[in-house]
Amino acid sequence: MHLKDRVAIVTGSGRGIGFAIAKLLAEHGAKIALVDINKDDLTKGKSEIESLGGIAKTFVCDVSDWENVQNVVKEIINEWGRIDILVNNAGITRDNLILRLTPEDWDLVIAVNLKGAFLFTKAVARQMMKQKYGKIVNISSVVGLMGNAAQSNYSSSKAGLIGLTKSTAKELAGKGIRCNAVAPGFIETEMTKNLSEKAVQSFLDSTPLKYAGRPEDVANLVMFLASPESDYITGEVIRVDGGMAM
Ligand code: NAP
Repeated sequence: MHLKDRVAIVTGSGRGIGFAIAKLLAEHGAKIALVDINKDDLTKGKSEIESLGGIAKTFVCDVSDWENVQNVVKEIINEWGRIDILVNNAGITRDNLILRLTPEDWDLVIAVNLKGAFLFTKAVARQMMKQKYGKIVNISSVVGLMGNAAQSNYSSSKAGLIGLTKSTAKELAGKGIRCNAVAPGFIETEMTKNLSEKAVQSFLDSTPLKYAGRPEDVANLVMFLASPESDYITGEVIRVDGGMAM
């Protein structure tokens, strides 16, 4: 029980990679604040974690809404008295070629994927500073490192998360707060379920290990970055991508 008495917030944890992270942190003893925009998924996730003996509370929240984010963080502090781990995982795609991409879909993806992570970081920073301890993990992507056709909005948000990670790491290191990013490659979730066969094949062709990752592959690394074993690591970006972006 590595994370006993630790309190963790995982955004976008109703399903997919976020839920796998929440479940693993809970298995290691952390109390989990499940944050997502989708209420039904949250309810399902909470009962699965509780059925395994974990502790979880649910918070319906749009990560791009500052008031909503502040209220969630206040509620968690009132309830559990501290915040040790923040995983900024909520993310969306609105893929299109630049000529067809609407300014609205640019703004939406940046608002959820990048501004959402900034808002949660801002909202937890004071509490973590008071504790002189905190672990922040941002879920970026290999396309934030490499770019990708038809994903200018998404890849910009994911590259932006790397800048946010390094700036947060530098700014808050003196207060005992570590911030790192994880860059997954092609992971099987709802987000990638509707990709065309051609797109899937092209991802697999560019992955030396030749198979898709599972949400648990990402969760294992986040668990390490959230735990004291990684305390001397900050401002780092680690790929979980079967070798895709090397
Ligand atoms: P997913 O299955 O689509 O899950 C994302 C979750 O975030 C969903 O539950 C979604 O709710 C929620 N969400 C969306 N907008 C939100 C908002 N404004 N506020 C709060 N929650 C919101 O995606 P995933 O594949 O697990 O991806 C998780 C993270 O990993 C994302 O940041 C993604 O960019 C990143 N990633 C994924 C891959 C991959 O191959 N899957 C690769 C690299 C990086 P709804 O169900 O209502 O949409």
